[in-house]
Amino acid sequence: MTLSSQFSAYKNHKEGQLFHRYIHNEMIEPLLKKLPNKFKVDAIGKSVLGRPIYAVQIGFGKKRILLWSQMHGNESTTTKAIFDVFKTLQEPNDVIESILINCTLLFIPILNPDGAHAYTRLNANSIDLNRDAKDLSQPESVVLRQQFDEFKPDFCFNLHGQRTIFSAGNENNVATLSFLSPAEDDKRSITETRKKAMHVIAVVNNQLQTKIPNQIGRYDDTYNENCVGDTFQRLGAPTLLYEAGHYHNDYTREKTREYIFLSLMVAMHHIAQNEINEAGFEQYFDIPVNNKCFFDIIIRNARIIKDGKSTITDLGFMYQEKLLDNKIHFKPILEKIEILDKFFGHKEFNANNGRASTVDLNELTVGYENDFVLINNVKFSLLFSKT
Ligand SMILES: [Zn+2]
Repeated sequence: MTLSSQFSAYKNHKEGQLFHRYIHNEMIEPLLKKLPNKFKVDAIGKSVLGRPIYAVQIGFGKKRILLWSQMHGNESTTTKAIFDVFKTLQEPNDVIESILINCTLLFIPILNPDGAHAYTRLNANSIDLNRDAKDLSQPESVVLRQQFDEFKPDFCFNLHGQRTIFSAGNENNVATLSFLSPAEDDKRSITETRKKAMHVIAVVNNQLQTKIPNQIGRYDDTYNENCVGDTFQRLGAPTLLYEAGHYHNDYTREKTREYIFLSLMVAMHHIAQNEINEAGFEQYFDIPVNNKCFFDIIIRNARIIKDGKSTITDLGFMYQEKLLDNKIHFKPILEKIEILDKFFGHKEFNANNGRASTVDLNELTVGYENDFVLINNVKFSLLFSKT
């Protein structure tokens, strides 16, 4: 039996208190308080605005795994999955026992609590923490580096979220999950450390392909010394970048969360059960490289007036996430007015040469922000259908 079939009754593993996209300290604090004693919960430092950064340690094995999430404050899917893992680690079964006997796990569920609160990628000083690995100019970066130096991980999991534009390869396959074993030098040398991370990613990919065939991508491995994953890999800890992406109609990322949860369980169990070497690392390169092939909505064959002339074109919309009244809303924005035949829409509509305009009967322009457009004077909703 594969591990993904063992955990197929996902609702039993899901932490129901966390859902949707807006996840911040006040939501996880009651859950951290309720964790049983075998979880060691600590405040390991403070953010720019003085919010605590929490760490959770569990297990007593030799293999040390450091995982951090929400380094980018608006990338909350992997944090939800971490709390699913916490719930699952309390179950009595062989898989969990093996993980806890062989591994010591250190989780930082929200590294950037100010960004999480404000729902921004950046921290409160408008710094991208994933470009601060060399300078360590921000308190959050220092906290992570201290944990790395003290904990001395054998594996690192750098957990992120990615936008809906990403495809796995150039086909009509959304990248629901993406992975990277980051480079550790400009030449992008395939070192022993990188191969170990590639080995684990290949194992995860093989198991998850049965769940989300062709929806797994691989990130470009251009080296950047300011990125945390590249730095920790260079310092000798095999590092896996996880990116939680889009799944059909799943704008709240509850489905993707399930696949992140499974990917974490598969990886941790594999590390627990095996001596990780470079075997099978080549399979990592079978994963298609990510591309940007998607819009949230494409309206095809729409007639507009451009430079005084009637023209048939396509309209590409992307949702912008906005925090309003403690909830994330998805506001459609017109990003492209051009033929988009190399792109795919998560939702597509053929206007059949129908006249497209704003709801006020004006010409559409890039940047148009409204929940509706008019097609032949009929309101067309740009809101996504609820799952
Ligand atoms: Zn990120």
